Amino acid sequence: MSEATTISVPKKSFLERFLLLDLLQGMWLTLKYTFRPKVTVQYPLERQAVHPNYRGMLRVDEDLCIACYLCEKACPDRCIHLEGERGYAKGKGGKYATYFYIDHARCLFCGLCEEVCPTDSIYHSNEFEAAVYNRSDTVHDLRILHSGQVIVHYER
Ligand code: SF4
Ligand code: SF4
Repeated sequence: MSEATTISVPKKSFLERFLLLDLLQGMWLTLKYTFRPKVTVQYPLERQAVHPNYRGMLRVDEDLCIACYLCEKACPDRCIHLEGERGYAKGKGGKYATYFYIDHARCLFCGLCEEVCPTDSIYHSNEFEAAVYNRSDTVHDLRILHSGQVIVHYER
């Protein structure tokens, strides 16, 4: 059985209550920041650069992919599906992906697929605007994964 926790609130003196010191302190803080340069970013009209290590929407360089299935196997959430075939395509021989799907709605953005890829063809971009109106639009095929999704710039 859990015990009740008692939190003691510091008592204010009569003078502190009478002079509304807390209120004055708050107003002083507001006044101090009123004349400082604004730090608020007017998103979506302004977009800030994200940190280089940010794990955003996944991208796949289809020219580098050798369809080894390592990313599909490493994915803990089974959101990668691909199929490969051996042959001659894009001016070179070897194995290449014939289809490649990533369901971003299920993706944990854990980076495991990126880590195991032997050719660095799958990677996290710095793209963070992933909102869509339909659930099916969160599933990206090789065409979108290669060139990136079309970014909707919202305006008021
Ligand atoms: S980031 Fe993680 S969850 Fe998302 S596709 Fe890669 S391995 Fe799967
Ligand atoms: S691990 Fe890399 S090379 Fe292998 S299938 Fe995935 S993206 Fe392609």
